[in-house]
Amino acid sequence: MAKTRAKKTPRIPAKSRIPAKSRTPNPKSQPYVYLFGKTRTDGNGGMKPLLGGKGAGLAEMCRIGLPVPPGFTITTEVCTYYYDHKRTYPSDLKAQMKAGLASIEKQTGKTFGDVKNPLLVSVRSGARDSMPGMMDTILNLGLNDQTVEALANKTGNARFAWDCYRRFVQMYGDVVLGVQKRPGEDHDPFETVIHDLKHERYHSDIEDTKLTADDLQELVRRFKALVKKRSGHDFPAAPWDQLMGAVGAVFGSWMNDRAIVYRRKYNIPSEWGTAVNVQAMVYGNTGDRSGSGVAFTRNPANGVKEFYGEFLINAQGEDVVAGVRTPEPVAGLKRHMPKAHRELERIRQTLEKHFKDVQDFEFTIEDEVVYMLQTRNGKRTAMAALKFSMDMFKEKLIDWKTAVMRNPADQLDQLLAPVFDASESAKVDAIATGLPAGPGAASGQIYLNADRAVAAAEKKQSVLLVRVETSPEDLRGMIAAEGILTARGGVSSHAALVARQMGKVCVCGASALDVDYQARTVTVNGQTYKEGDWLSIDGTAGKVFAGQVMTAPSEIVAGLLEGDAKAKATEKFKSFQQLMKWCDQATRMKVRTNADTPEQARNAIAFGAVGIGLCRTEHMFFEGDRIDAMREMILADTLAARRAALAKLLPYQRDDFAGIFRALGGYPATIRFLDPPLHEFLPHTKEQQADLAKKLRIPAEKIHQRVEQLHEFNPMLGFRGCRLGIDYPEISEMQARAVFEAAAIVQQEGIRVQPEIMIPLVGFKKELDLQLEVVHRVAKDVQAEKKVKLTYMVGTMIEVPRGALTADEIAQSAEFFSFGTNDLTQTALGMSRDDSGSFLPHYAELEIVKKNPFATIDATGVGQLVEIAVKKGRATRPGLKLGICGEHGGDPDSIRFFEKVGLDYVSASPYRVPVARLAAAQAALSAKRGAEP
Ligand code: PEP
Ligand code: MG
Repeated sequence: MAKTRAKKTPRIPAKSRIPAKSRTPNPKSQPYVYLFGKTRTDGNGGMKPLLGGKGAGLAEMCRIGLPVPPGFTITTEVCTYYYDHKRTYPSDLKAQMKAGLASIEKQTGKTFGDVKNPLLVSVRSGARDSMPGMMDTILNLGLNDQTVEALANKTGNARFAWDCYRRFVQMYGDVVLGVQKRPGEDHDPFETVIHDLKHERYHSDIEDTKLTADDLQELVRRFKALVKKRSGHDFPAAPWDQLMGAVGAVFGSWMNDRAIVYRRKYNIPSEWGTAVNVQAMVYGNTGDRSGSGVAFTRNPANGVKEFYGEFLINAQGEDVVAGVRTPEPVAGLKRHMPKAHRELERIRQTLEKHFKDVQDFEFTIEDEVVYMLQTRNGKRTAMAALKFSMDMFKEKLIDWKTAVMRNPADQLDQLLAPVFDASESAKVDAIATGLPAGPGAASGQIYLNADRAVAAAEKKQSVLLVRVETSPEDLRGMIAAEGILTARGGVSSHAALVARQMGKVCVCGASALDVDYQARTVTVNGQTYKEGDWLSIDGTAGKVFAGQVMTAPSEIVAGLLEGDAKAKATEKFKSFQQLMKWCDQATRMKVRTNADTPEQARNAIAFGAVGIGLCRTEHMFFEGDRIDAMREMILADTLAARRAALAKLLPYQRDDFAGIFRALGGYPATIRFLDPPLHEFLPHTKEQQADLAKKLRIPAEKIHQRVEQLHEFNPMLGFRGCRLGIDYPEISEMQARAVFEAAAIVQQEGIRVQPEIMIPLVGFKKELDLQLEVVHRVAKDVQAEKKVKLTYMVGTMIEVPRGALTADEIAQSAEFFSFGTNDLTQTALGMSRDDSGSFLPHYAELEIVKKNPFATIDATGVGQLVEIAVKKGRATRPGLKLGICGEHGGDPDSIRFFEKVGLDYVSASPYRVPVARLAAAQAALSAKRGAEP
């Protein structure tokens, strides 16, 4: 039996295209009820803020002559009034509703409560953005013991009339009168009544459609008794009372738990309120020449231009979504009701021509006549969005700028990511969830340390590196792994940013995981997985699965990075390239990449980056055995010993930079000098210390002491950033020499080189000046030695508040700024970027923060520091080049903010470059549209 409430999967609501109208403060002179129908329609499709999505869509369909049962919309302002005035209504609402009902009566020839030809109505919610299944709906309202007989007589179909009545009592009882499953009960009480009757009379679970008029009449009787018993009241018989009860319940449902949770998730402000739509019923349950369905004008999963949807014969709308009977594909209607199918085809064409976008609509067929009950822009996958935009451009429905805007930037990485084979992933349940930190799907045998992960990968195993959290030491393991899974850490944690940079699939902060390094096991919900066991992760959804789930690669990645000819010939690849071409036409900001290796740089360029915005040089010190020289340098007691160790590192760095310059083929590279606290490079376990002692031929105790000495309580605010280069200028000297020597070599090969040296964590101009002196001195030396003329720049990161606030002073020395918004967020908020995962989710729940500030820039707080620095920096040096290289550089919402403040470029991890290109193009297009009169 059909459930009373829709069980649709919540879909992500699209933001309304219509700006919110300011609310009119005078409640007296205001229209609260907007009519729609054949004879008069007050609203239109542009009035979503006032009429809600459903109301605006119904009005617009009426305006273009589609068959919509008449009705009226009670505005969202009434909802606001209702909550502002202790759940009461404006005084003239009732009169306006009565006039609305009279209009419906006139158009249908039926009368509300009439005992000859009764009008029944549906009462549905309709917020500005759709909130599928979150709020309440009541159908068949207006029935009582008299009108049901009238309906039976009028239609000559007693079974149908009683079916409507039992549906009504069941729905109204649940939604308005609160007769619902109680704690401890397994089943809905109405469903229990139905089940019992079926078993009493038929001794089995027969289909609902097999129940006779007499069965349904008996159900109504028992339902009413149930209502009386549970609520203490008789079921209301007067249609007007029923209507007011239903309207109150719909407004009330705006504040139910489900709706509140949904709004929080999708950032829908509670002030928006819901509208209520009261509409003449049309009946999909009169028999085999009737039915209900939901459909899309094109396929929302893969974008194919085909009529897509499903329907049920002899059913009302809620049966289709309740999942009790299995609906048939809409194409099947051609066979059952060819005339209705033809009419729906006509409607499908009309909708697309009018709305110029794919529509998701609900329809009812009553005795082979089609009625439209709803239309809205259809939610779609990234693949479908891409195909819709390309096809509609070709069909001349939209122009290229609209096509760019139609692709949601935050979904674009779906197109690049490997995905789980859909049929396979449907078979498995998630065992844990975490943050979706690196999109895509990965399946692998788990290893809990980098060395073992590397060894397993060398044996051609597919590896998943599982750590409590990752540090630079794990880099080799991360490179070897298909995916990375951590129990702790947020979206800008080391694991997340490195994973994104490498294009690795990553789920972080899956706190249900108990990772035991000693035992080499991971325990989740009492189930233990040993090293070598299989786990799978979905880094797009942040889910962890037990066992192996098959994956498939993306044609775009195969085409761009591997030059795979077959992949390049696919429609998906070509469409993607076209979209990116349009983005280049539209964008103002450039997109660079955060890359530390030639391979990452090459990948990013293939994805369309035009330079490196951040090369974190420290990552280079972990490759191969160069970590030994690094450790030797840190442990050195004397300047001479330190210089000797640095001399060993120089050739490595020089080769790295030369490789990067070659990969860039003339594009600029911002190279940041050493940044992390030194102790991150040190051996922490006893074994590691003993191993290093042997290699360096010094006592292990000495190493132990130095590690202790370097210990900091708060390393992220400690001896790091430019403080390292200021205390040990020889480190900066070595790094500068490596950059310039590499530049000289590559330039002599005939490749243009544009190094931009960047000093991290600067808060005082003097800090930068001290480092500048070193850089310029070395540059001069190298140019003289190599007899070359190099062009280079020196600039700074703005990543501590003092740096932003004194940007005018700093810009006297800095030729460019790059905003390090990871640290700037951490320092401005006083929240550790590594540890905030423990309380931020709760902060989001309480709406203290709207979004994770480490993922989306906190525009009002941290953003102000950026704005101040932009203004002050450019006041000192008008041509100052400005970029951003924190993780926010790949986040569409943040990119919109950076467009607004006028940065020159954003820098994102290689696999995020297409997302950033699309977001930057959209931000530029929106800014232009906003500026147009
Ligand atoms: C930053 O702080 O935003 C930044 C890019 O540097 P890192 O993440 O390496 O500290
Ligand atoms: Mg930083």
